[in-house]
Amino acid sequence: MEHYDVAIIGTGPAGLGAAFSLLEARPDLSVALVDRNQYSSGGLRNDCKMNFSWPVGFPEDDWDRAGAERYLERVEAFLSPAIMGRYDVDVYSRRAERLGCRLLEIRQAHLGTDGGLALIKRLVAELERRGAAPSLGETVLSVDAAARVVVTDRRELSFKAALVAPGRAGFSFLQEVMRSNGVPFIDNVVDVGVRVELREDRYPIVKDYYDPKFLFPKKVRTFCTNSRAAHVVQEKYEDEAGVWYSVNGHAWSKDRPANGLANFAMLKTIALTEPLASGQAYARALGAQAMLLGGGRPIMQRVGDFRLGRRSTRDAFTGDLYDFAPTLPSCTPGDLGLAVPAKVMRALWNALKSLDTIVPGVLHPSTVLYYPEIKTYANKPVFEDPACFRAAPGLYLAGDGAGTSRGITAAWASGMRVADGILAGL
Ligand SMILES: Cc1cc2nc3c(=O)[nH]c(=O)nc-3n(C[C@H](O)[C@H](O)[C@H](O)COP(=O)(O)OP(=O)(O)OC[C@H]3O[C@@H](n4cnc5c(N)ncnc54)[C@H](O)[C@@H]3O)c2cc1C
Repeated sequence: MEHYDVAIIGTGPAGLGAAFSLLEARPDLSVALVDRNQYSSGGLRNDCKMNFSWPVGFPEDDWDRAGAERYLERVEAFLSPAIMGRYDVDVYSRRAERLGCRLLEIRQAHLGTDGGLALIKRLVAELERRGAAPSLGETVLSVDAAARVVVTDRRELSFKAALVAPGRAGFSFLQEVMRSNGVPFIDNVVDVGVRVELREDRYPIVKDYYDPKFLFPKKVRTFCTNSRAAHVVQEKYEDEAGVWYSVNGHAWSKDRPANGLANFAMLKTIALTEPLASGQAYARALGAQAMLLGGGRPIMQRVGDFRLGRRSTRDAFTGDLYDFAPTLPSCTPGDLGLAVPAKVMRALWNALKSLDTIVPGVLHPSTVLYYPEIKTYANKPVFEDPACFRAAPGLYLAGDGAGTSRGITAAWASGMRVADGILAGL
């Protein structure tokens, strides 16, 4: 069996934030990083826009403003991003306020998917230089905190401390780790929404503010806006109940040719109570329903059809009114009204109408609504030491999978917070 001071599962920003903090403070530590993918799979790899302002990305159950800002300073100092300007946003803020909505002003950087990949390569090379090259393409099967052993599909590792940071895609794996180690948890929150795709000139705010964060009534918000060279993509989720897809979006850096399109998510947060308390189970059921209606694919509908209460057909994606082709054409033209729960659809549509008043043009008939876009990052472990996200002796859980973050910078900060706890205990 190989022995390490620290074993880190997941090379997303939470795992990387922890690894670099540990090695900066104690270059002598042996640190193993393991990831089942060839690259970290989340936002570092896709679009890589980074938000450096409270509260974006920081769940308020786990963070206060002062603590988050302290860590954000450290994240920014390490990653040295080029912060983008924000221009002429006052007019949008005033319009939003008149409608009972808010526009958050956020410090942002954007690397694009190609820029994110280059950053990952640089970080991996730096870890190699520091003697902690990640083992990629290796899947962790189990973590036993009492025995301090990680079992992967290749080997067994013993550790003094382990950080499990498997991201949203490792949500079920993390639940298994928590169950097998007796860590109580709930996962009662889920974000459900649509991805909106439109011509950039109908959402011109993106030229002044890369990822504008609007907050609307009924816990609805814009999320993950992409523009210039923007595409809608799908993510696969697979478990014992079958396969379903959620849509998402990304953009290339300014080095790639523009396509004149923008996309963003409009999401509603839903907190479930008894008797159905699992956000994951609800997400799976919604995903399955969308797959049923879409013949195994997400659904897309033009706003013009949605307004008239009729399904979109293939014809709606050609023809003169519909002046751009969807960037995820494999979706099934259909009827969101049959798939999205009424309460969710009402809240999303009201938010979209407000947004169309704030930035006129959003609800042009050609705008495409894709469904489902679902985020299940709300595992809430009961931490025995919340200050450093320790769930059991030697076992730390952080990042989006453990609900301590909802974005790259907060995940990186979560990893740093774990590292501080590990360093204090070694
Ligand atoms: C398509 C997409 C685009 C996004 N764009 C942005 C963005 O632009 N800006 C932003 O702030 N956020 C974005 N996000 C969200 C962002 O990716 C997350 O907030 C962040 O990556 C969370 O970091 P993490 O370290 O918790 O998990 P992740 O980055 O998801 O990393 C977890 C890692 O754990 C690995 N893993 C999981 N299970 C196992 C296992 N059993 N064994 C070994 N390894 C395992 C996974 O392969 C993965 O690489 C995006 C997410 C997606 C999916």
